[in-house]
Amino acid sequence: MNLIVQKFGGTSVANAERVRHVAQIITDTYEKGNAVIAVVSAQGDTTDDLIAKAAEISDKPSSREMDVLLSTGEQISMSLLAMAIEKLGYPVISLTGWQAGFLTESTHKNARIKKINTERLQNELDKKNIVIVAGFQGINRYDDITTLGRGGSDTSAVAIAAAMKADKCEIYTDVDGVYTTDPRIVPHAHKLDEITYDEMLELATCGATVLHNRSVEMAKKYSVKLEVRSSIHSDVPGTEVKEVCKVEKMLIKGVAMDNDVTRISIIEVPDHPGIAFKIFSALAANKINVDIILQSVGRAGTKDISFTVSTSQKEDALRISEELKSVIGAKEVTFNDNVSKVSIVGAGMLSNPGVAAMMFEALGENNINISMISTSEIKISVLIEQDLAKKAVNAIHDKFDL
Ligand code: ASP
Ligand code: MG
Repeated sequence: MNLIVQKFGGTSVANAERVRHVAQIITDTYEKGNAVIAVVSAQGDTTDDLIAKAAEISDKPSSREMDVLLSTGEQISMSLLAMAIEKLGYPVISLTGWQAGFLTESTHKNARIKKINTERLQNELDKKNIVIVAGFQGINRYDDITTLGRGGSDTSAVAIAAAMKADKCEIYTDVDGVYTTDPRIVPHAHKLDEITYDEMLELATCGATVLHNRSVEMAKKYSVKLEVRSSIHSDVPGTEVKEVCKVEKMLIKGVAMDNDVTRISIIEVPDHPGIAFKIFSALAANKINVDIILQSVGRAGTKDISFTVSTSQKEDALRISEELKSVIGAKEVTFNDNVSKVSIVGAGMLSNPGVAAMMFEALGENNINISMISTSEIKISVLIEQDLAKKAVNAIHDKFDL
């Protein structure tokens, strides 16, 4: 008997009809002789609606109470889905995060999972129950409810699959897999049959929202077999995420776009050792995630240092940079939040010299100026003007003939 973990996102359980459809997918899987644990997200826009409700009451609700509130969304889905399965005549039980044994760090709103006590889950499976688990939540060591960060139900599902040594983890969503790029930007983007964990991780962190990046990290760490597939067209195979893929003709798997980027530049920084350390350690101490870094060649005893942060951290990053400016004796701090990061991702591109040139050619032909570049073994990212980002994604997607 195989154990299959299935995760259903918000759109997949958005209304009664969808919930019934999901119940059918789960019971079909169970009917084939599998044990099933299903993890659910809150219905449709419920989480956003709950956040809006909180804002009506207070502009600074405590994180603890926010977590209590947000965790209710998943609790609605899990009970409704269990009822739909009961109605089909199958043994089923729904469990909240804490009932399912999710222990997290104590930080609220973005807690990391520390451990899953699998006893209860195992007991329910032993009783032949289909188990429905509320995603996105757990409890901390003070027995307080925590949530795992927006989109965290994917991570709940993968964590259960890892802890229970499931044979497979299927992520059901409103698209039928992972695409070469966002089909809303490039209509002829196509679905990938498979992608490696590393490629998926890069795509997930570069703005492709199909999977929570922590879920991919965890799947890689514990070698969880993942498949992203559609809950609507549930008979269509999705995209498998795994360690290695068949070598295909194209090295590039996809193009991603991220608009949540701000570039900050510290101008005319004195050109001596230890300055970069001062800047980036101050940012790190303030929990600011720096992405691309660029330092100009020194001239006349000074150099410019630029870096990107997510726009949500712009204010903090600017404040710290201003403080640093006087400490290190730089001339000024500038920023631009009207930029996008466009990235191409694919394993093995480092060993193929022409890839970066091809990407830059696509941009050059379209008169798109590059202000920063960063490369890794499986990714090349460029920073460009935000208004040109969609054009850039199209140009690159076509250039690589994806
Ligand atoms: N309901 C949560 C959210 O909207 C978690 C999730 O859907 O994965 O972020
Ligand atoms: Mg999601």
